[in-house]
Amino acid sequence: MDANEFRKHGHAAIEAIAEYMENVNDLPVVPKVAPNFLQEQIPADPPKHPESFDQIIKDFNDIIMPGITHWQSGKFMAYYPTGFSFPSLIGEMYASMLAGNGFLWICNPAATELETITVDWLAKLLGLDERFLSNSQGGGVIQTTASDSTFVSMVAARHRIATYYQDHKGLNLHDIAPKLVAYASDQSHSSIEKAAKVLGLQVKVLPTDSDYVLRGETVAETLEADRHAGLLPFFICATIGTTSAASVDDVPGIVKACQSDENIWIHVDAAYAGSAMVCPEFRHHMQGCADVDSFTFNPHKWLLVHFDCSCLFVKNSLALTNALTVKPYYLRTKAQDQGLVRDYSDYQLQLGRRFRSLKLWFTLRNYGQSGLQKHIHDSVGIAQLFIRRLSNDPRLELVAKAHFALVCFRLKPAVCYPCTSNSQRNGGQAASNDSRATNENGAALQATNAKMLDLLHLIQQSDIFLTKAILHGKVCIR
Ligand code: PLP
Repeated sequence: MDANEFRKHGHAAIEAIAEYMENVNDLPVVPKVAPNFLQEQIPADPPKHPESFDQIIKDFNDIIMPGITHWQSGKFMAYYPTGFSFPSLIGEMYASMLAGNGFLWICNPAATELETITVDWLAKLLGLDERFLSNSQGGGVIQTTASDSTFVSMVAARHRIATYYQDHKGLNLHDIAPKLVAYASDQSHSSIEKAAKVLGLQVKVLPTDSDYVLRGETVAETLEADRHAGLLPFFICATIGTTSAASVDDVPGIVKACQSDENIWIHVDAAYAGSAMVCPEFRHHMQGCADVDSFTFNPHKWLLVHFDCSCLFVKNSLALTNALTVKPYYLRTKAQDQGLVRDYSDYQLQLGRRFRSLKLWFTLRNYGQSGLQKHIHDSVGIAQLFIRRLSNDPRLELVAKAHFALVCFRLKPAVCYPCTSNSQRNGGQAASNDSRATNENGAALQATNAKMLDLLHLIQQSDIFLTKAILHGKVCIR
């Protein structure tokens, strides 16, 4: 394809994209295809000779599109969202045009410097402590996903404690590794366990309270018992906006529980809810975050930026780069040797990196702070409207406080499990939340959970994509 042909097909692609976005709500949100549907339609061997682009696009429309789940549809309410906006999409196009690889400053000076500037903008938009800005000892970096952000934070935490034991006790990493413990909660994302698994370290999962919150007291008690048992706590993850319930951990309490031990790295995972902090009224959820070591959130979830774009902010950049920098001769540059530049490959696992800051820059500028705030307000407003309707329905109840735009609800147990003593006393009315919670025995819970799966199935059939969660044993629709 030459530039002229590209012009023709490129213009057609722009048309198709605009049309798709105008009509996406009319498409079935989850495709009605069976597993392996594609193998039957695409040859097992690659083409021997060039094929016409018109034919390729025809096959894209006829074969691929019918198997797509439409994440940008208004009927898609599963998982957490994945960002879309036209300025972000155009940013992706220009980044693809440049088709570079910015692993060192010299490989793409503008990409590196724009990344520093845009992540600083984000830190300011979220109201992060100024020690997370690049003009201090800290700074931000764009990772692919929150899982990567968590992984490299854990690597940095392990390096920090290993260095301490090397310098103070003459022990090396192999001596202390069996005793190192990372902590997550029963509501943390699986990426914390995965990071520990990849590093071959143990992870303990701590219980949350009835609001699905990891409390400082729980952390303090566990740390004390574990230290007593000769273990070495080195990493803890607090979550702002957990995956199943969007609950918010007790970050100030966790900070307090860890404050006497400078070897514990406190990481905040705000993958989803971090975006809400562009609105000052949500910032109270950030209490305690000024005193943590790292904070991550995904503009690609809820801030209109295309996947992938996860921002990791650290208070001490050296803690990250000391753990991750490997500089063979072919990667050394004068500017880096003189300490004049950042090479972002020293802040991540991979060497290569895309020009992700471009889509971020386009989006932040085209929406501005007010546009981003409106986007968050609109989402939260829809959730609040849904909650109002839900509270008018005597069959349904919330299972978790809705701090942001995620709503978790279920059928009231009395609906599908009649004759609890309270519902009889109330003349057949549903029992109050408190009494029901205490009266919900194993059989009632099981019956409600089974009904919830039926209900979910029923809703899915009407072409709305929702997902389920289990919160302290209660199945709910989220
Ligand atoms: N952390 C939280 C709280 C999440 O909800 C999720 C995914 O939804 C993740 C981490 C993982 O995100 P990523 O796909 O960016 O690794």
